Amino acid sequence: MLLILFVCYCQVSLVMAVSIPNPRVCVIGAGISGLSAARYLKAAGVNFTVLEATRYIGGTWRYDPRVGFDDHGLPVFTSMYKDLKTNLPKPTMELPGFPLPEDAPSFPGWKVYYEYLQSYTEHFDLKKYIKFLHHVVSVKREENKWKVKHKEVVTREEFEEEYDFVIVGVGHLSKPKMPYIKGEKKFQGTIIHSHSYRIHDPYKCRRVLIIGAGPSGMDIAIALTDVSRKVIHSRHTFIKFRTPFPKNYVKKPDVKELNETGAIFVDGTYEDIDDIIYCTGYEYDFPFIDESSNLTITKSSVTPLHKNVVNIYQPTMVMLGLVVRACFVVALDAQARYTTGLITGNFSLPSQEEMMAEWQKKYLSLRAQGRPLSHMHSLGGNEDQYYAELTEESGIERVPPVMFKIRASDTRAIVDNLLTYRHYSYKVLDSEHFTRTWEGNENEHERNKSFSNC
Ligand code: NAP
Repeated sequence: MLLILFVCYCQVSLVMAVSIPNPRVCVIGAGISGLSAARYLKAAGVNFTVLEATRYIGGTWRYDPRVGFDDHGLPVFTSMYKDLKTNLPKPTMELPGFPLPEDAPSFPGWKVYYEYLQSYTEHFDLKKYIKFLHHVVSVKREENKWKVKHKEVVTREEFEEEYDFVIVGVGHLSKPKMPYIKGEKKFQGTIIHSHSYRIHDPYKCRRVLIIGAGPSGMDIAIALTDVSRKVIHSRHTFIKFRTPFPKNYVKKPDVKELNETGAIFVDGTYEDIDDIIYCTGYEYDFPFIDESSNLTITKSSVTPLHKNVVNIYQPTMVMLGLVVRACFVVALDAQARYTTGLITGNFSLPSQEEMMAEWQKKYLSLRAQGRPLSHMHSLGGNEDQYYAELTEESGIERVPPVMFKIRASDTRAIVDNLLTYRHYSYKVLDSEHFTRTWEGNENEHERNKSFSNC
């Protein structure tokens, strides 16, 4: 991989030229990333258009009961399930200067959050910049411009426009990562990916195998313990959850293979199973980005990006919201402010050599720790440092350290008890400090029974 990047690096200009007078900017996607970019571009008086494939703002934050394909033959974008509540507390979910409603719960559900994004769009008067039902099919670099082809999804009319900057804000939670599991075709029950999970009703009194223990796997597994006969959870995460799981929850290691009626696990045990939900995550998927971008896009990484945002080879292309293990709302807001500063010439990027050297240093450090390239997008314990770096380079207002501290506290509460961590309420006191208050029942910590009546 590194070799490919070095070769590619030698083929492109080493001279940075980002500052363009009166640039024309294309923002792809009207989800939270695209809306955040729109807010700051508008405030800076930039000439921009947002292209959005659906009729709606909000991207994955909009619940849609449909799965598969939408009315226009496009894959349903959202992965939202009906009972989703955020796993990060309210202060870290707020876009700066635009608080969630006072009475919103400490961990809002998707509806509260979606309505919040609608209010945000109205408040900053962003709708007029959005071309709805315009599906971007190709973004190509030609003669120092970005040629963006998009299709009106109802009339099928095709458009091609030239832009100076492209901001990609389509997220990365839409294309399911499907595992390969031996014997899958033999299995007689249902199999879906969490992308297509909406409600728990179909799993009432069933024996359900959940594979994967990221936020989707843990959320769905716990939700199903309320209704399912048995929840069999295959998980290999290094996190040692201390949750007193209900009695109808059974932890299992990786699946060795499936047969007609159930699963054999790598420890040799077997379970009868009615349904399987793969909670195995999502792939990076930007089929419209042409190879002229010089980016290397795999299922698990987009490289090389400066500060996880700027395409080092073509710095007039920016990717928002790719980071994980972060307060992603404040992170992508900071990225949107950084991007606007870049477009308006408020700051200059380091030279391409310097950006590449910084990227390679991070890459080599990951390799030395035996971690995969995909971890380039993971902020984790370096989240606060990331915000400091964005500010140092661009002069944007710094994301206060208290955000990272709240996330760290929330993460500990999640590991302590997945059943109760959302009963904590967090309040920011100043840029460094916060309070955390328990708002649940006294005996809630002890909740350790089978909820389902099957
Ligand atoms: P994810 O974070 O990528 O987690 C997927 C998990 O599946 C990983 O732990 C992965 O482990 C595991 N996995 C993959 N293949 C596997 C296999 N064959 N066998 C066993 N395990 C396997 O994906 P996600 O849980 O869907 O979450 C995606 C994003 O959505 C997250 O950023 C999260 O914050 C967000 N989300 C939020 C909420 C919420 O706010 N309540 C709920 C759901 C999702 P390995 O990588 O080790 O294989």
